[in-house]
Amino acid sequence: MEQLSIGIDLGGTYIKAGVITNQGKAIRQWKIPTEGQQGGPAVVRRMSDLVAEILESPEVASKRDSVVGVGIGSPGLVDQRAGTITRPVNIPNWEDAVPIKKIFEERHGLPTQADNDANACGLGEACFGAGRGKSVVVALTLGTGVGGAIVVDGKVFHGSRGYAGELGHTCVDPEGPPCACGGIGCVEGYASANAIARYATELVAQGRHKSYLVDWSRDGTPITSKMVYEAAVKQDPLALRVIARAGRYLGVAVSNFCVALNPEVVVIGGGASAMGDLLFDHIRREMEMRVYFSPYYTTEVCRAQLGEDAGFTGAACLALTVR
Ligand SMILES: [Zn+2]
Repeated sequence: MEQLSIGIDLGGTYIKAGVITNQGKAIRQWKIPTEGQQGGPAVVRRMSDLVAEILESPEVASKRDSVVGVGIGSPGLVDQRAGTITRPVNIPNWEDAVPIKKIFEERHGLPTQADNDANACGLGEACFGAGRGKSVVVALTLGTGVGGAIVVDGKVFHGSRGYAGELGHTCVDPEGPPCACGGIGCVEGYASANAIARYATELVAQGRHKSYLVDWSRDGTPITSKMVYEAAVKQDPLALRVIARAGRYLGVAVSNFCVALNPEVVVIGGGASAMGDLLFDHIRREMEMRVYFSPYYTTEVCRAQLGEDAGFTGAACLALTVR
């Protein structure tokens, strides 16, 4: 029987939503501004009003009995058991835990699940993206930070207290730089899109290198990971060095995930994943060197497939029975 689920991706700028079938098809999508400055309760009300609008839309109203639930992917601290969201990053004036599960269930009468955005994206990829059909999927999102998720048999692995899968905060250098999480030498400090841009900026500032990045930033334009990629495609030595370093540290972390979890696939998404094999080949090389039982031959490293839709697709999967 066809199931429909409403997935909501709470972002700092936009709230995106989609109605997803249990075959992974989006029957319609919505996008509204978050208006985060109004504070947590107001944002939750906007999300809830959006759910009401979705349920009344012609595509969904005619299939109302097929709607099995609502899933929400959010930044910040998400207690998926209590169904609360606290301090989402990029949304100011949201300090207290908001009981979003209770609020939605009382108003809409639909089972509601909330999880952090990286877990939602990973679940989306595992169910309907690059990890489709695989039993153990590790997902990484290379953005401002490095988000992570562990998905086993179509379910996010949460650990004992709900905080498993914070893979970006795996240590890859005990003498590395301090991280905002309180840790030292986290892989996020080397392999996020921000870290890639920062290291390229440092090398350019040394003034000793010839590089497209030197030319492109001469007028004060800040260097981005996208610029590093564009230079690397032109075989720019400095850009290639920056990517090699990010890939090496990422490869150390991924090797550790392989030893611990023996996943079938490591799915890499987020802005910096556009580098594709330029970055992934460094990861594969580290895995080949470091993982003694050579899951290099069985663990694939591949690019996420759902792009911008991963957030709401994965959120919808929180409420679906996918397998
Ligand atoms: Zn950290």
